[in-house]
Parts: sequence; structure tokens; C-alpha cells
Amino acid sequence: VLTWQQACGIDESHLTEISQNGSQSRLANIQVIKDLNTLLDSAKQQGHEITIISSFRSFERQLAIWNDKWMGHRPVFSRHGRPLNIDNMSDIERYKAIALWSALPGLSRHHWGTDFDIFSAHALKQGYQVELTPEEFSEKGICCELEKWLSENLSQYGFFRPYKNYNQGVAEEPWHISHKLTSTQIFETFDYKACKTHLASSEIKAKDFILDKLEHYQTQYFENFETE
Ligand SMILES: [Zn+2]
Repeated sequence: VLTWQQACGIDESHLTEISQNGSQSRLANIQVIKDLNTLLDSAKQQGHEITIISSFRSFERQLAIWNDKWMGHRPVFSRHGRPLNIDNMSDIERYKAIALWSALPGLSRHHWGTDFDIFSAHALKQGYQVELTPEEFSEKGICCELEKWLSENLSQYGFFRPYKNYNQGVAEEPWHISHKLTSTQIFETFDYKACKTHLASSEIKAKDFILDKLEHYQTQYFENFETE
């Protein structure tokens, strides 16, 4: 189980580097490394080599992403990947548009080191530019074969996909996998109060509005995921 600082991405002592041949090193929770390597090795042996696109993200990194989107410095997309114009949006519309694809800093599962965004290594080797849209994992998508393999095999390696289907919260993210045992322990012991206090001391844009909405975020996004 993590301290609240580790669970909120402001302390990285629960992490270690994952060796991914050739590409830049990434961080993952020490407790999931063995299962992650078994998953990656088995997938590769069965012809479905996986590349990790994103793993651990710090509070500061998540804050920068969130604030950039809030300010319009980084594109915001609809559920189907269409770019949205947030200029004329109210605070609540803006919050909902961003929360669809980006977690509030402190409340991202990527802080835990148990969650990874993955993609077909084969597609990347061909020079394909990753978008991370549901279409890429659909029947005609570039990750179609990987999708089939994940559906049939992922759970036996101790992982699941919390955002496999859209349920009025986070968008459908078939590429997002999570280590079941470790992430469940972290989720169940999560300290919302400490997280809120830290968020209140941060540089988040529209802070008063966001702090007001935190309970809504908790139920609608943070606690709204599939467990199988
Ligand atoms: Zn993700």
C-alpha cells in the first residue's frame, strides 16, 4: 500500500525503471514489474509485441497537462477524437471536456505505477503515429489483433482494463491496462482528504471551481471504472 504522497504522484519511491529494449526507460510500481514482464514476454511470444506508450506520470506532469488543456494550449478532444473548441465553454463544460481524457492531478491512476497505456509494437515499427483513439482498437483499427489478444488473455496475467467501455465518466480507453491486485489495494486505501489539501496548495487553474467539483470528480470519474 502506498503513502498518500506516492498515490498522488508527489513521491516516486514506490517506482523502479522498466527495461524496454531500445526506447526510453519508464517507471513502474516495484510490485507489478514481475507480472508486467510476464505479460510483455508472453504477448511477444504469441506474436503480439506490446510497446508501453505511457506509464507513471507525476502530479506536476498531470497538473501541466490539465492546466494546458484548461488554457487552450493543448488540444481537447471529444469522445470520438474530434478536436473541440473550448474558448466559449463555461467552467463546467470545460471541466467535463477535459476530464473525459485527462485525470485531475492527484487522481490519476498513472500516479500509482500500476497502470500503462499500450500499443502494438508492430504498428510503431512501421512508423505509425499513435493517436490513442478507440478506432485504433476497433475491428478495422491498427491494434485490432492486439485487442483480440488482450480480450482473451489479459486477465490471466493479473491485469484488467478499467476503461474498456464508456460509462458516462472517462472515455473508452482500450489501451489502458491496470495491475489488478496492486491498483485495487491503492484505490481502496486512497486518501481523498490529503489529495484535496495538496490540490488546494497547487497551481491548478480555476482552483475554487475545481475544489468545489472534487466530490463530483471522485464519483463520476475516479471511482467510475470497470473491475473486470
Ligand atoms: Zn492511461
